Amino acid sequence: MIQLKDVVKQYDDGFKALHDMNLEFKEGEITVLIGPSGCGKSTTMKLINRIINPSSGQILIGQQDISTLDPVRLRRTIGYVIQNIGLFPHMTIAKNVGVVPRLLKWDKTRIDTRVDELLHLVGLDPEVYRNRYPSELSGGQQQRIGVIRALAADPQVILMDEPFSALDPISREQLQDELIRLQQELKKTIIFVTHDMDEAIKIADTIILMKDGEVVQIGKPEQILRHP
Ligand code: ADP
Ligand code: ADP
Repeated sequence: MIQLKDVVKQYDDGFKALHDMNLEFKEGEITVLIGPSGCGKSTTMKLINRIINPSSGQILIGQQDISTLDPVRLRRTIGYVIQNIGLFPHMTIAKNVGVVPRLLKWDKTRIDTRVDELLHLVGLDPEVYRNRYPSELSGGQQQRIGVIRALAADPQVILMDEPFSALDPISREQLQDELIRLQQELKKTIIFVTHDMDEAIKIADTIILMKDGEVVQIGKPEQILRHP
């Protein structure tokens, strides 16, 4: 479980992006953060991934304050998927998927086996795709690679910041379905940012509605629907 306790984020220019956030993200659930542009969704994700630090308050993974985790441990604990995929263009698919395992110094056989297993998981034949470059894949296929790269070292937590927003509607629906199916198997703590309520309602176990750096509503999709 991830907890935010009294988290405040004030940027260097004085702007307060988050006011006293108290939140819990449960294991085995997909929690969706939703709200208008500028409400603080990405700030929350960056804080959990320790790309930025809170001005005050604490972020806990299990019992541990993330500010005390060493960088390698942090990478192993949290996987991260972003909107524009962020695959390395000069690396093959296998190299891209293996970034975090290499960082963790897994041996080559273990990495190769894991890469093939992950490609299978999202319906891509390793024989065909392992040695291709990102530019040789469709947008939907590249985003699948982004997702399995985040899964590679089996992190407890996966942060997904508008991961499917750049895709065409059909690929987007397919990836939403795959994510739901994967989560039934993997039971991770997934935090998913979107500004699309239909997407939120489809994939979320819990929805957190934000506005102006504050939480305005938390509930199951059907509760959010009933009290829009
Ligand atoms: P969202 O992801 O919900 O669109 P963000 O978390 O990116 O919102 O931003 C929340 C608010 O913080 C916005 O008003 C944004 O302009 C501001 N903000 C984001 N990054 C910075 C920064 N580095 N310096 C100052 N203000 C920032
Ligand atoms: P390098 O060490 O090779 O400079 P990084 O370790 O910073 O690169 O990140 C490698 C890639 O992994 C990044 O491009 C990013 O998309 C992705 N990434 C970033 N944070 C995480 C994370 N916590 N878990 C998994 N992948 C991540």
